[in-house]
Amino acid sequence: MIDQLRELEDLKSLAAAKQARITVAFDLSQRREQAAAGVPAKEQGAGVAAQVALARRESPARGSRLLGLAKALATEMPHALAALETGQLNEWRATRIVKETACLSAEDRCAVDEELAANTGTLSGCGDRAIIAAVRAAAYRRDPRSVAKRASHAVNERTVSLRPAPDTMARLTALLPVAQGVAAYAALTRHADTLRSSGDERSKGQIMADQLVENVTGTPGGVAGLEVQLVMTDRTLFQGDSEPARLAGYGIVPAEWARKAVRTESEANAGELNIWLRRLYTAPGTGELLAMDSKARLFPPGLRRFLQIRDDTCRTPYCDAPIRHHDHIIPRHQDGPTTSNNGQGLCEACNHTKETPGFSARPVPGPRHTVELQTPTSHTYHSTAPPPPGTAPDVAGAGPNCTDPETLPKGLPKSGQQRKHGVVVLGRVVPHRPLAAAAAAAAAPP
Ligand SMILES: [Zn+2]
Repeated sequence: MIDQLRELEDLKSLAAAKQARITVAFDLSQRREQAAAGVPAKEQGAGVAAQVALARRESPARGSRLLGLAKALATEMPHALAALETGQLNEWRATRIVKETACLSAEDRCAVDEELAANTGTLSGCGDRAIIAAVRAAAYRRDPRSVAKRASHAVNERTVSLRPAPDTMARLTALLPVAQGVAAYAALTRHADTLRSSGDERSKGQIMADQLVENVTGTPGGVAGLEVQLVMTDRTLFQGDSEPARLAGYGIVPAEWARKAVRTESEANAGELNIWLRRLYTAPGTGELLAMDSKARLFPPGLRRFLQIRDDTCRTPYCDAPIRHHDHIIPRHQDGPTTSNNGQGLCEACNHTKETPGFSARPVPGPRHTVELQTPTSHTYHSTAPPPPGTAPDVAGAGPNCTDPETLPKGLPKSGQQRKHGVVVLGRVVPHRPLAAAAAAAAAPP
């Protein structure tokens, strides 16, 4: 069995090396085709990473990293590629080697590859850290200035990201140049110390977190001119049902949490917050979202909101990025209508990819709203909208066939049957206060 484990591991490495070679060859052939079609040199290669991602069932962002890895291995690091082929490196370690040498010139990278000669067994028995250390040492020897260059390159990667954490919490992470990170942290700490010394009973961490949200959003409690959307079945909202809800931009939240959030907001902030409620209707069986309130609302911004709720994240398969563009699946210039069926939510990168020559998309029949994406190599991929909350077995099959949005009731669904197919979206909007105004208000005496 142990021999089998090792054999399969070698096979995975071999497959990764083979995928890298194929990726590079595919990139070349696409560029050649694009050049022949008259695509300007600097635009050649567009859409390659997206196709690699679809084929490998990865997100477009990871697709472009895999393309970068393949090119680096095939053109500048033949020893590392050979080591991958023979199982002396795995794909992850090869990725690290490529990453650690990213700041070097092609020539220096080749030299580092030669020095390491990974395929001769120099790295056998080395763990991730030992390999990274060896690569760094070789890189610094080759080009000491790359340390400085690398630091200036790293600044470009500053970013803020959000990840879900357990118990309906979220991690808001900022990757910052060290001086800014330290300064921001020190400011929050100082503020917390001041409040605590004047009797604030919240913990230091709690004060820092509250202050961070308040500073960034410009509103105590933290929702400023933003829309927060909670999608749930009307049974969850009104009847204490346990079917979980979905918080846009976060994911699934427990039913009780969703109800409590609605109650708290409506009681505490009735004067300031504008809570709205929007009903959606789902097709029996499949849970396809059919309409919002009435047909009259199905135009921007109502239509945009509908797409946002139906699609939740970018519709490209394997891409979990937030929706940034509301796209006409069949473009307007090809007479694609402005309808929910011809609309989809896409992230910025995927919207850009879709505009690349050779890519096309069209809505096709499916269990729920389905888009067929065709790539320049004539491969097709399907994207079906995620099931809305409540698309559980109890929705399947039974109930009235509310396929015509015009026949849907105007008021809140009253009958049991209609309720069965209702999905409620709750949003709250606060008038936006610019940061400066909020700061002035905070500074003013009460
Ligand atoms: Zn995307």
